[in-house]
Amino acid sequence: MFFDISVPFAAATPPWPDDVGFSCGWTCRREEGSSVNLGVLHSSAHVGTHADAPLHVHSSWPASESLPASVFVGEVQLIALPADHDAASDITVEVLQRLLGAHVPTRVIVRTGCSVASGTFPANWPALTADAATWLVQHGLTLWGVDAPSVDRRTSTALPVHNAIFGGGAFVLENLALEVVPIGRYELLAQPLAVHGADAAPVRALLRAIREK
Ligand SMILES: [Zn+2]
Repeated sequence: MFFDISVPFAAATPPWPDDVGFSCGWTCRREEGSSVNLGVLHSSAHVGTHADAPLHVHSSWPASESLPASVFVGEVQLIALPADHDAASDITVEVLQRLLGAHVPTRVIVRTGCSVASGTFPANWPALTADAATWLVQHGLTLWGVDAPSVDRRTSTALPVHNAIFGGGAFVLENLALEVVPIGRYELLAQPLAVHGADAAPVRALLRAIREK
């Protein structure tokens, strides 16, 4: 059984304010005498579920073709912030230790409850502190996934979480759809498209239940 945790790469999905939303235009149409309908996609790479490339935050860092396939498939721990966790409150090391226990998994996905999956761009969302991001990668994390539009705060310009995660050799998933998925351990299947030269790549993200032996 799969949970599809993808927010569609679609015109109906709200982009980051002032970013370019998704549209599908037509190079030619059968109604106009062509042998096929031939579409052309126009969109920011950050619409819907996607993986940022390190290039997103540093011009000299690697682009989307460098996103390693092995990071985006494998066991993942889905956690959820408590319902009373305010959007303005940080995700600190203490919060993570309460949710994860003593062990930091290789891959973690967090439900903040603030997501474009709701149909509107959220006004605010919780994010890791720089210390918490550093603590995660120092303890072996390779992938941090969020339902929010960014792993950093909406108003952040220094982007400390992107920098700590990419700087530590780990990667991110943003804009996941996690409303209906129970917390727990899953197999993640979330390959970025093999897009070259971009600062992010769209992702179709699935979770498959792990059968406990
Ligand atoms: Zn992004």
